[in-house]
Amino acid sequence: MTTLVLLNQCLRLKDNPLLTAATGDVCAVVALNKATFFGQQYGIFRANLARLRQQTALITDLKQRLAQHNIGLVTLFGHTTSELQTLAQQLNARMLIAAEPTATEEYGQFRQLAQTLKITLIDCNSLLAASLRPALATFPDRFTTFRKQLEPLLRVSPPAPDFRLTNKQQWLGVTQAETLSQSWQQLAEFSEQNSVNTAALDLVKHSETASWQRLEQFIWQKQHILHYKDTRNALIGDNYASFFSAPLAVGTLSARSVWQQIEAFEQKVAANDSTYWLKFELLWREFFRWQFRKYQAAWFSAQGIKGTKHFTPPKLNQQNLQRFVQWCQGQTGVPFVDANMRLLNQTGLMSNRGRQNVASYLIHDLALDWRLGAAYFEQRLLDYDVASNWGNWAYIAGYGNSEARPFSLIKQAISYDPEASFVRQLLPELSTKGKTAHRPAAGSILAALNRNWLAELDK
Ligand SMILES: Cc1cc2nc3c(=O)[nH]c(=O)nc-3n(C[C@H](O)[C@H](O)[C@H](O)COP(=O)(O)OP(=O)(O)OC[C@H]3O[C@@H](n4cnc5c(N)ncnc54)[C@H](O)[C@@H]3O)c2cc1C
Repeated sequence: MTTLVLLNQCLRLKDNPLLTAATGDVCAVVALNKATFFGQQYGIFRANLARLRQQTALITDLKQRLAQHNIGLVTLFGHTTSELQTLAQQLNARMLIAAEPTATEEYGQFRQLAQTLKITLIDCNSLLAASLRPALATFPDRFTTFRKQLEPLLRVSPPAPDFRLTNKQQWLGVTQAETLSQSWQQLAEFSEQNSVNTAALDLVKHSETASWQRLEQFIWQKQHILHYKDTRNALIGDNYASFFSAPLAVGTLSARSVWQQIEAFEQKVAANDSTYWLKFELLWREFFRWQFRKYQAAWFSAQGIKGTKHFTPPKLNQQNLQRFVQWCQGQTGVPFVDANMRLLNQTGLMSNRGRQNVASYLIHDLALDWRLGAAYFEQRLLDYDVASNWGNWAYIAGYGNSEARPFSLIKQAISYDPEASFVRQLLPELSTKGKTAHRPAAGSILAALNRNWLAELDK
């Protein structure tokens, strides 16, 4: 009898408890869900080609690394539960081991699979795993309460030991895995038809090897970590923040490994406010993961975890539709918003400061349904993580773990881009120099909060 080891969200060899959890005949598998890439929500595609390319490149990379250990990786594409059920039948598998998800859709898939397979879920991507697992019923709804509860102890589960082949496991081989990966061919054909040439692009930037190189560089070699608290609010650049979010989201890097490396650096080199702050931010990620497990589907209702639950899709009249499209395209006429949105569209990433501002603009200035913004981010972000994305959006809207948080766009622009160098870099059409470049185009929508700051642009 075979055990399937589903490596979704855990595309790595280091700190991967899934790889050692099964004994006997074992089959490694990754399944990309067609609906997650080609489906829509509120009329918006759930992913774009860049994320599909990123995923296929990372899976191909993992396949090659497993092959070095003579382990095959079955790659599936389609309806995840049916694909896995078919594979289980082909291999006479009765058990499936997988990374524990955070969101309702993935839990639903495992509930369906549990009808025919014995499912074991292991939390591979949280800081508080195994015996440190918090009780959901009493899990705090405020970040500060959560942090204060955790911080005196700063206890985080240690990473799993490095993976080694043992004679307790007989892994399915490379050739057999290839023959079982027919559904993946569909994806290969699609990629070919749409000129998705992964080889030509640096899409393995978030692979396990590249992620560890980045970690080595950010923490140990260049020690950017020592200045992180001062630089983290920048809008563009290579080292103002860690850029760990994409590897953490796709699971090529584990949060526990990052945490352990920061602590090792603090012990061996130096500990300061900045090294602490990187851990502080990882606690935000952790907080949202448990919040998602606590409130599940409620996160996708119009009023998030507050108010009555209703899941009716956002309604848009013609004017609001136009405003939403302009926001997506970086054509609102507010340079600070447009520059950040164009950066997102070009690179699949945006700084945290930028994300907070464009989200606030959509919610509090354009008065659009926050879920539209969250859905567009879902489509675009290469570090898309369901809990961090929807949790942060709901937070700014006031439907999550905070009251509403409107930002004054102009004040923020002046504070974080005082010379307007960021907006001019992204918006070549801007001709004015200095902070006046932040002046919104005539007719653009700004709530009173912003209007009070416009006079500052001429000072
Ligand atoms: C509207 C909105 C949507 C967001 N969507 C996502 C998302 O889909 N995926 C995602 O990983 N982050 C998301 N974030 C959080 C944050 O913006 C990114 O994690 C961060 O910008 C990634 O860059 P970094 O890795 O260099 O972060 P750093 O500043 O170096 O932080 C280190 C790590 O801490 C975690 N972290 C930092 N800030 C937050 C935060 N506010 N919430 C949760 N975790 C955090 C991330 O894992 C990050 O990699 C969102 C924030 C907002 C305001």
